[in-house]
Amino acid sequence: MQFRSTKSSGPLVSFKDAVLHCLPSDGGLYVPDKVTDIRQFFLYMDEKTSFRELVATVAPSLLQGELNPFSASRVTESAFDFEPELIRLDEGLSMLNLYNGPTGVFKDFGIAFLAAVMEELLKNSGQALVLAAARGDTGVSMAHAFSKQKGFRLVLVYPSGPVRGLKPASFVPNGGNIIPIQVRGTFDDCQRIINEAINDRKFAERFGITSANAINPGRLLPQTFYYLYAFIKIKKGFAGDLAFSVPSGNFGNLIAGLYAWKFGMPVNGFIAAMNANNAFGDFIRGGPFVSRPLINTKSPALDVSVPSNYERLASFYKEAPTVMRNMVYPASISDEFTISAIEYAWKKYSIHIDSHTAVALAAARQVAEARKWSGQVHTVVLATGHPAREAGLMREVTGQDITIPKSLSGLQRKTDPIAVISPQLDAFEGVIASCY
Ligand SMILES: *Cc1c(COP(=O)(O)O)cnc(C)c1O
Repeated sequence: MQFRSTKSSGPLVSFKDAVLHCLPSDGGLYVPDKVTDIRQFFLYMDEKTSFRELVATVAPSLLQGELNPFSASRVTESAFDFEPELIRLDEGLSMLNLYNGPTGVFKDFGIAFLAAVMEELLKNSGQALVLAAARGDTGVSMAHAFSKQKGFRLVLVYPSGPVRGLKPASFVPNGGNIIPIQVRGTFDDCQRIINEAINDRKFAERFGITSANAINPGRLLPQTFYYLYAFIKIKKGFAGDLAFSVPSGNFGNLIAGLYAWKFGMPVNGFIAAMNANNAFGDFIRGGPFVSRPLINTKSPALDVSVPSNYERLASFYKEAPTVMRNMVYPASISDEFTISAIEYAWKKYSIHIDSHTAVALAAARQVAEARKWSGQVHTVVLATGHPAREAGLMREVTGQDITIPKSLSGLQRKTDPIAVISPQLDAFEGVIASCY
């Protein structure tokens, strides 16, 4: 599978180049050029197949010529010490729990795979330096994934504010391979400095710099694997139609689902579940995309006004507008309905679901009713965040305390970065040079 920019039909680049450079120079995003149908590799799998087995089979069949089955097994072993969990709630509904990774968010899947596959692709080429701007818990997720990969040092660039959840023992001065740097400025300043460092040829070559941006295709690909996993767990004894409901902010998860479908997964539709930040719904219905000011809601990870994956989704619609309109159903859920969905899940199924999952559950119910799906369509709701991350909200809505897993309890611990700098390239490069 080769990759091209959403903005042009060429040049084509290898998976390795798309992962290591991650942004085409024309301002587009990397997408697979021709999609491989890999149905034959997963259709025989069933509920006895483990997630790791699935990934170790599917990844090399997608990346033929770049990732052989042995490499794929190594990557899988290294990346996934956690797995998705499919819970069948009733005839029409399942939950796909994607929150069992180190930070309790589905993003752990993409980050863990990216780190492990980068290590595999760069083997024997000395040590490389990965730069990443950190927001929320992605810094912790990256530190967890890259601290296992000895071919890398990871520079996490933080904006002003507390830095949380890192283990000082993993920092470079203490013998580890993580370099957390705080910039006196905003997240955008962090991103700018990273781009400047990448474009500073001499510096970038001296340290072998790459980046692990959120829109890296090496993070998108592994997200297709858990859709396939849900499918193989569910297909037995089930003849009806299948849909996925996806809580959507930057739309990475939804796009991964569309790729799983293109890889041959039989599925009838995707629900693009949004909160009040629903401008993308107009685009999905066939209108132009006009961004609107951000609204703060109770499902903050979906508070996005311009989705970073816009280019990728738009290229799907450009290729096959009618197919897409029959495939993706937009829904917008208010805070009030989000809260009642948390309550509903607790009362009906005795499960805690986080606010983002609640948006997807409410959207699934709304779409099923509007389209009269009852009894004919089985919907898999993607549970993207661990409910223990919102322990206060869970207690407030359900009246029940939730146990916080040990792995998540460290996320709030404050850490000192190894340096705090002004938002300037020379200060940034100085700190990095001092680590060698
Ligand atoms: C990031 C995130 C989302 C949104 O996913 P996108 O791929 O950006 O659409 C949903 N839920 C949780 C808990 C998240 O952290």
